[in-house]
Amino acid sequence: MNPPLLAAALLTLAAAAQTATDFSLNPSVPQRFPLAGRHWPHNPGDASVCLWPGDALAAVSLTIDDNNAPDHPWWLQQAAARDLRLTWFVITGRVGTGANWGTWDAFKKLAAAGHEIASHTVTHFRAPGGASPDVAWEYEESKKQIAENLGAPPTAIAYPGSPAYKLNDPALAAKYYLAARGFTGRLNPANALNYFAVAASNTATLRDPSDPSSEIRQILEKTDGPGARFWRGWLVLYSHDVRKPGHRQKITALLDFIETRRGDLSLRPFSETALYARNRDASALSTAGQNTPGQIVLRLTRATDAAAFPAVPLTVKVRLPDGWETVAARQAAAPVPARLVRRDNLPFALVEITPGAGDVTLTP
Ligand SMILES: [Zn+2]
Repeated sequence: MNPPLLAAALLTLAAAAQTATDFSLNPSVPQRFPLAGRHWPHNPGDASVCLWPGDALAAVSLTIDDNNAPDHPWWLQQAAARDLRLTWFVITGRVGTGANWGTWDAFKKLAAAGHEIASHTVTHFRAPGGASPDVAWEYEESKKQIAENLGAPPTAIAYPGSPAYKLNDPALAAKYYLAARGFTGRLNPANALNYFAVAASNTATLRDPSDPSSEIRQILEKTDGPGARFWRGWLVLYSHDVRKPGHRQKITALLDFIETRRGDLSLRPFSETALYARNRDASALSTAGQNTPGQIVLRLTRATDAAAFPAVPLTVKVRLPDGWETVAARQAAAPVPARLVRRDNLPFALVEITPGAGDVTLTP
């Protein structure tokens, strides 16, 4: 690209960042809110949106790149035994071209088992004859191929790695996807997520969970060290060939540790986690001023510029009046999931509320 064209492209990017529908395209994302521990609202009727689904402390998403069909049985066995849902980033042009690349039938089976199938471009930026890849085509065509073969379009992409990594274009990816995974960085701060360059850690180079500076413990444990900003953050893992010596042991050590902290972790696939966080960042909660000892009314609004991505339910924690032994919730006219939890013997509700979808009424 010549200098004037490059300058024009940079200007376009800057304009996109200013008028973007959310914070996604700004690579130096500002801190959107201070990090704190789990919030327990004080007065009956007080409420807050939970940082992660189910009031988890932190989030983990497991992703697998480059099709890696020979790894499918091992991952499926791990996922079934541990009740995990994974994300496969698929190079769509390679499907059906050999044993390593898998078949659409195989990916259909993964999708049917509840896993996410997402894009890893058509060619991994390896165009035939060494031609320069057409990035827009790679993003758009891979989405089309997954939609045609699996019946639903993917909502996320993982950028192909080096040497062509620098060709990836977050603004362009945002036209086709709700989030994109990159390779830079290892962990994501919850209050400064860059949704089109989500950082990821390679499972082959993970630190052992017994190490306090390991990735998983950095997101779970509050420290004063340089990793403090990752406390309560999002650990996204990416994995290649698990048949390499020692690799499975590294992953199972992490998965075993995750099981011991299950109640503290959100373990959803990549897109679901990103979509929860994007909705959270674009929502505002208010009490509708109609609280009585027998009823609490809440309103969760959504920024008007959030229309570019779908609304998904957010977990809202509500301090209930002392005497409540049970809780039921309705949004607009429909019942929504709500459960009562206690802390210091005081009742709270965790309610699943979709932003912008009407007032929510809680009753005992
Ligand atoms: Zn790759």
